[in-house]
Amino acid sequence: METKPCPACFQSIDARAIKCSFCASRQPDAPLMHRNVPGRVLGGVCAALSLQFGWDPVLIRVLLVVSIVGTGALTLWAYALVWFLTPFEVQGKTPATKLVDGLSNLFNKERVPSAPA
Ligand SMILES: [Zn+2]
Repeated sequence: METKPCPACFQSIDARAIKCSFCASRQPDAPLMHRNVPGRVLGGVCAALSLQFGWDPVLIRVLLVVSIVGTGALTLWAYALVWFLTPFEVQGKTPATKLVDGLSNLFNKERVPSAPA
């Protein structure tokens, strides 16, 4: 695993970490949360969260499974909500934005599509 020193506490952390796992300070070079990260299994939500929090992805998945067993559909809805609001690529659109775009195109056929940002 590639590591880097945390600029806040100088501990050696995962080079891709967004938050330091020792002092929890957000890394200045951290990209926005997105799902196209190494080690993703299903929607990439657990892998994305593990990078955000600097936690082991296995820990996040164990917590997810425990939470599903404990709360059932509530956790599945929470997972779906995070997936829905997290873009796949760093600069990409969230599934929520794509849905809104798709619906507005559906109802505004005559409107000229807005220029890409
Ligand atoms: Zn730190």
